[in-house]
Amino acid sequence: MRQASPRPKSTKASAVQAEGRCICGAVRIEIDVPAVWAWHDHSPASRHAQGCAYATYIGSWKSRFRILEGEDSLTRFEDADAETTRSFCGQCGTPVLYERGRSPRYVNIPRALFTTRTGREPRYHVHLQEQAEWIYLGEPLSPLKGFPGVMRVRPSRKPRTVVGPPI
Ligand SMILES: [Zn+2]
Repeated sequence: MRQASPRPKSTKASAVQAEGRCICGAVRIEIDVPAVWAWHDHSPASRHAQGCAYATYIGSWKSRFRILEGEDSLTRFEDADAETTRSFCGQCGTPVLYERGRSPRYVNIPRALFTTRTGREPRYHVHLQEQAEWIYLGEPLSPLKGFPGVMRVRPSRKPRTVVGPPI
């Protein structure tokens, strides 16, 4: 286990780091900025694993990534068929790492773990043809009467246009 300890700046690969953490704070990670790339993943597997419409990741070289605290709190799920490993905080359930056997030198991290800039904007979409049919596509919204802060999609006679087949 790697202990959380301050390291001299001279050992770091870059002068700027971005720190991420799980929701309970048990796991803290760090990458050297900039990340390699950032993208939105619309695949059913990532949607299911993260419990959201789509997952937004940043990718980092493993050599530019560090677990600052809480490595013992990480629980790993290895999917042998897909050759992927997903690590999440065993205390709060936050997805933390997504690793693929085909890309052993990279680690993928949910963008939402970082509160600061990572040096890459998520300008790419992968598996777009598999996006959920219930995803919000920017349709006009109106306030829901009696529920401040709740907006709803206005009913439409036209069926929604989705990029791929319904999932
Ligand atoms: Zn946690």
